[in-house]
This record gives sequence, structure tokens and C-alpha cells, in this order.
Amino acid sequence: MHSVRIFFFLLISLPSFAQNDRRVVDSLVLEHPNSTQKVEKKRVAITIDDVPNTRSFEENGYQSKLLHLLDSAKVPVTIFINEGKLDYGKKRKNVKLLEDWIERPFVTPANHTFGHSRYSAVGFDEFVEDIENGEELTASLAAKHNKNLRYFRFPYNDLGKDSAQQVQMQKFLSDNHYISTPFTIETSDWMFSAVYDRYLEKGDKEKAKEIGRMYVAETIRTFAFFDSLMRHQYGRSVNQIYLCHDNKLNEDYLSELLLGLEMEGYAFIDLDEAMRDEVYHQEDNYWKKWGISWCYRWMKPSERRSTMMKEPNLGGIEDRYHKEMEEK
Ligand SMILES: [Zn+2]
Repeated sequence: MHSVRIFFFLLISLPSFAQNDRRVVDSLVLEHPNSTQKVEKKRVAITIDDVPNTRSFEENGYQSKLLHLLDSAKVPVTIFINEGKLDYGKKRKNVKLLEDWIERPFVTPANHTFGHSRYSAVGFDEFVEDIENGEELTASLAAKHNKNLRYFRFPYNDLGKDSAQQVQMQKFLSDNHYISTPFTIETSDWMFSAVYDRYLEKGDKEKAKEIGRMYVAETIRTFAFFDSLMRHQYGRSVNQIYLCHDNKLNEDYLSELLLGLEMEGYAFIDLDEAMRDEVYHQEDNYWKKWGISWCYRWMKPSERRSTMMKEPNLGGIEDRYHKEMEEK
């Protein structure tokens, strides 16, 4: 159902994409000659962290390019909000931006703390305060638009430094009617975005474009990796949850990524539907603070490390990121 909309959107709403970058679509088609054959549907929920990007909003003359893109694509998304971001620039306009996001029928609003603190570093009391501050405005805007605030995601997916800290916070969340939100796939889009921004700052549009395309290609490759991992573990494709951010890279390349995923046979579902998959009803047996995929958390520790080593290396973006940041 979303397929037609995305295609339509790409062809009519992005003339620069349709004309100048038409070869991207052509190359995707050529690379996937079987894309029209009927294949088993794979499913993914798109989740976007660190919303709203008020910095980009101001730079774009108080337009949210990402929200406009999603208006056309009509893909369901869950947004993880940091209310602290409203304090950047013009607060009144930023609050309106937040409401613009929340009121969209395809958007599920969720809490990501006020100030994006790291739980293992700040401890229980300070983190609870950050959660509570993070819902002040969001809860009332959600209620105004007949939505619930049920999902929470830990910044950095840092669930706590050890089992005691993790159990303590999980209890707080469930007592307060929050669901701790997992993810299965992420591809360090924040790192691609930082390098992308850097090239644009330097006026090197070609290199920026190269990074954007690399993000799309490497993310699709990583989806294939996790799908094959889950098929190996469970004998089937599972409902995936993709984590990305409200950043400039996604403003410019999320549409291409959605198109590519669709050509790989993915249908876009909302988070409620994704979480109905029974894989999400099993125990997370990982007690460290690192923000690894839930696909790894469900594994036996003995399998985990060797499997993680096989994950695609994202085209070496990490090295480019460090090089660009050092030069800055
Ligand atoms: Zn975040």
C-alpha cells in the first residue's frame, strides 16, 4: 500500500531526484532484476530518534524537510522526542514544530528523555528526572491529538551499567506505563550525517552525495545481514525495527532508503505491529551498557561476539568520520 505512494512521491515531489538522479533508480532496478517477482514480505517499523531537529529547522527557514518527506511517503514512524531541543533558537516556533510532528496521523510520539542523558553515567534519580521532564509538553500534545505516550527509548540504548541498574529502571518504566523500545537495525546514520554535513560545509557536493549514497547502500546491505541472521536463528524473517535520526542526511536520503528497502521486499509497519512479533516477547539477557541490536541481546553470550564481528563494516565510514572530525 505504501509502495505506490513512495514511488509517486519520488517522481513528483523531488524533481531534482527524478531528473538528475534518475540513474539511482535505474541502478537500483538493474541491481535487483527480481524485484518485481513475488517474494515473501519482510516488514520493518521505522523509528526516528532525537526529534525535533530544531537546528536544521532554523537553517531551513523554519521548514522540516524530514516531516515534509514523510507527509508524501506516508510511512508510519515512531518519533523519540527530546524536549530539550525546543530550547534551541525560537521556542514558540519549535513547539509548533513538535505539534506538527505529533498531530500527523502516521506519527506515534514517544519519550527519549528531555536532555538525552546516559543512564549508566547519571544514575537512577537523575535519569528518572530526565524522563519526567521529557514528557511535560509531549504528553499534553499527545493527549490533545488523542494519542498515548507509551514508548520510551534510552538515549544511546544504554539500559544501565549492570543488571541491578537495568532491572530498577525497567520497573520504573513499567510502573509508569512505558514500554522500553528495542531496535534491531541501525547503521550509525549519525556518523554518516556528520561526515555528510562536513562535506557540505566545505562546499564539496560530490563527496557529500557519495556519502549519502553510501548510507543508503550500506544500510540495505545491513538489513540483508540481519534478515539472514534472524532466518538462521528463527527460521523466518522477523519484524525489524530500524533506528535512525532526525538529521540532514535523512532529510536528503531517507526517501531513497525507503525506496531501496521496498525493492528488497520490505513493507512498512507501525511499532505496535512490529512489537507483536514474538521475538520481542523473549528475555533480553544482555546486562552491559552498550547500545547493541536486540538481535544480539537475545543471543547466547558465546555466540554474540563472533556474530557481531560478521556485521558489514558500513563502507569504512568510521575511519572517514574520525579523519573529518580531526581536521575540524
Ligand atoms: Zn538519541
